[in-house]
Amino acid sequence: MGEEYLHSILEIINKSNMRELNNTSKTCPQCGGQIIGRSDRRFCASQCKNAWHYAKTKEKDRIFDTVDRVLHKNRDILKRFYQYSQETRYVPMNRFLSRGFDLNYYHRIIMNQNGTGNNLYVIYDFSYVHDHAKGVKIFYRWMFPSLK
Ligand SMILES: [Zn+2]
Repeated sequence: MGEEYLHSILEIINKSNMRELNNTSKTCPQCGGQIIGRSDRRFCASQCKNAWHYAKTKEKDRIFDTVDRVLHKNRDILKRFYQYSQETRYVPMNRFLSRGFDLNYYHRIIMNQNGTGNNLYVIYDFSYVHDHAKGVKIFYRWMFPSLK
């Protein structure tokens, strides 16, 4: 009786282990295949793991490249108009836009600068205020006294 009892207990344990294995079986995020093996495995094979991480890194690089490119372009435009205006006058916003200035990209925004109702946008070492009536006024490095 003892041996038979032990045998049936083992059978129950095996069955429940099998069920657990099936329940925790996951699919590979790279190829969609079933993952067999340790429960903490995330990919079916090291090739899939490498391919997935490579694609993720590529995607991150692409996002960084896109944002960096827009910010650099915005800075170039600010620099060009700053040299032209020398902080003394306002430049019409349409001149920025016609050069491809993208209003959605900046590093910092300082709300309601000097109580004028206009926000100050900071892009690298340049910043600007857009007054809807007068235009854009550009500042250079005023945020960073130590750089002057
Ligand atoms: Zn896979």
